[in-house]
Amino acid sequence: MKPDMLDKIKKAIKDAVKGDFYKHRFKDIDIDGINSKEDFEKLPFTDKKDLRDAYPLGLQAVPDEEIVRIHSSSGTTGTPVIIPYTKKDVEDWAVMFKRCYETAEITNLDRIHITPGYGLWTAGIGFQAGAELLGAMAIPMGPGNTEKQIKMMIDMKSTVLCATSSYALLLAEEIAKRGCKDEIHLKKGVIGSERWGEKMRKRIADELGVKLYDIYGLTEIYGPGIGMSCKYECGMHMWTDYIYFEIIDPKTGELLPEGEMGELVITTLCKEGAPLIRYRTHDLTRLMPGKCECGLDYPRIDTILGRSDDMVKVKGTIIYPSMVDSLLSTIDGVSSEYQIMIDHLFGKDILTLFFETSLEKGKKTKELEKTVEREFKAKIGITPVAKAVGMFELPRSEKKSNRVFDNRY
Ligand code: ZN
Repeated sequence: MKPDMLDKIKKAIKDAVKGDFYKHRFKDIDIDGINSKEDFEKLPFTDKKDLRDAYPLGLQAVPDEEIVRIHSSSGTTGTPVIIPYTKKDVEDWAVMFKRCYETAEITNLDRIHITPGYGLWTAGIGFQAGAELLGAMAIPMGPGNTEKQIKMMIDMKSTVLCATSSYALLLAEEIAKRGCKDEIHLKKGVIGSERWGEKMRKRIADELGVKLYDIYGLTEIYGPGIGMSCKYECGMHMWTDYIYFEIIDPKTGELLPEGEMGELVITTLCKEGAPLIRYRTHDLTRLMPGKCECGLDYPRIDTILGRSDDMVKVKGTIIYPSMVDSLLSTIDGVSSEYQIMIDHLFGKDILTLFFETSLEKGKKTKELEKTVEREFKAKIGITPVAKAVGMFELPRSEKKSNRVFDNRY
């Protein structure tokens, strides 16, 4: 850690404790006594549950008159998290987002087709604010209505598609089905930070004929736009003038060395409305070693490999969805789409792996199932029950795909 980073972090902590949330959490901590990286690393983590407990506006760290907007993270598991933003937070976010577009060499001549949702969720409006600051034409579609998406994409000559990977795949498949690829003007895809495998990536890129970029972010920390991949496709540059990040062992909380996979933890350096100190994102990634060929001086994290919560243990073996992605990408005849069900039957765990294939059901798919089972055992360590299904039989979603269903508990 550079000395000026420590100064920035100390200032961020001092600002954070002006609000009740950190005033309470850090009441026994001598902030002036934080004088090294090691001191900082002794501070407790903040987790999503703490943010939920602060519902509705317990995170607010500045007076009411300074708050200009709120966003909320999806409340799929009960109470949502409300994040208040000041005018400066909103502006900072747009500056970061503009930098994301520039990192992908997107210019003010581009027409940016935005499919992530608008509203309480941060995504859509972030993509739009960044596009407008860049001077590009924003096409604020929001999700859904595939028919209209494709028509607008053709008529407006959209050059950049912003989407989640699963929605980009759905659109790519629909365009292929309709045979209208020649009428599409897309050159680049900016794909939200959902974990996605190489095979899915290649399919989207090939079918849409675009170069793909990964964008990183989460509602709790501005939203999408705090990190972005460049044309060298070697991880995402993180905007460390706005955030400080660490990679920890999700089980022990210990800091991990460069290159090792763990959970991403973020501290905001200048967020006013709802600053966060050592926030656990639950996203699995690693710090990429070395410098990027593009010359950008911002450190990189790897493509998100999954959620630390998605990690499952079956018969004593730890499995991340990304392991299954890369396994399936090596087997001919298997598509990128799959689903895992884990059940506990007759006293033992059973892992069933459904995968899509374009092969006709019969002897060939039976052989493919055997191959998948054999490869799974060889590379991951346990034998699943593999089941081939036809193309498009597994659900696609406009938001994030859920691929692992643990029915044991
Ligand atoms: Zn780069």
